[in-house]
Amino acid sequence: MSPGPIYEPEDIQSRNDRWTQAFFAAGFRKGDIGQITFSYHLVPPAFWFEDALHRLGCTATPGGVGNTELQVRMMHDLKVTGYVGTPSFLVAISKKAEEVGYDLQRDLCLEAGFVAGEMLPESLRSELEKSFGMIVRQGYGTADVGCLSYECYYKNGMHFAYNCIVEIVDPETGRQLGPGETGEVVATVFDEVYPMIRFGTGDLSYFTDEPCPCGRTANRLVKILGRLDQVTKVKGMFIHPSNADEVAARFPEIDRYQVVVTREAHVDQMTLVVELKEGVEASEALAKRVEAAIPTSMRVRGRVRFLDRGTLPEEYKKIDDRRKWE
Ligand SMILES: [Zn+2]
Repeated sequence: MSPGPIYEPEDIQSRNDRWTQAFFAAGFRKGDIGQITFSYHLVPPAFWFEDALHRLGCTATPGGVGNTELQVRMMHDLKVTGYVGTPSFLVAISKKAEEVGYDLQRDLCLEAGFVAGEMLPESLRSELEKSFGMIVRQGYGTADVGCLSYECYYKNGMHFAYNCIVEIVDPETGRQLGPGETGEVVATVFDEVYPMIRFGTGDLSYFTDEPCPCGRTANRLVKILGRLDQVTKVKGMFIHPSNADEVAARFPEIDRYQVVVTREAHVDQMTLVVELKEGVEASEALAKRVEAAIPTSMRVRGRVRFLDRGTLPEEYKKIDDRRKWE
């Protein structure tokens, strides 16, 4: 069953070919013991991943969801070398392991981690890699089409899996977009049981065709930016809340922020309204610096306007589209 809920058939063979590529790229090899911490109930991923591990000659331990302390003991007692799950559950594992007195590197044997299902910020990845002494790589796919792309050792984007077609398309026209252009991830898979022609994932991303030092020639999704339904088009470019997060992350002075989109004389205007941190003075110079950073992350120019602290309500949308189309 895929989240929906929709009951779907499965072509294990073709689907798991792609997950197996992903696990190999994440560093899983024959003889590894991988602990699967995805749910074994009602949804397919745990079964895909177990099969992918078996194809590589690995052993799979079915951890499932929760039971954190028991899972930590399993990892220790069975000398588990691979983690398969969400990034956040690996954080929970590390906390619980330390709580029961384990040293993450001496008492656990984790070497490779394959994570999916959540965003993986670089800061979290390096924290996990350092504390466990392991490598953590991510894959991307959906319940409907299976694996579409995965990271290699060089973690510079996710290579398209080889027996499927991944496209980035303009969600309005369905036209294919080129490298660096943001659009919807659309997938075609050739499963005999459940083929999909140009299945729209609803996820927003862009790809690169730059060569990768690993030698794989497949293009790479650079990163998943979020869901299509959160996106707004400004001056012909797609703006996602994560673009604004990127700008704000570069300025420690910024506390809260919102993108306001308006239309003046039939031209889109974008303003980043900003509340500064306690004690930071609003200045023309700071506004200029933020304005200069906006096009790098958002690919359109925008103005900056400072608000008094507390002007934005407790809960607010990151993008406030005030354009009226009449
Ligand atoms: Zn590569």
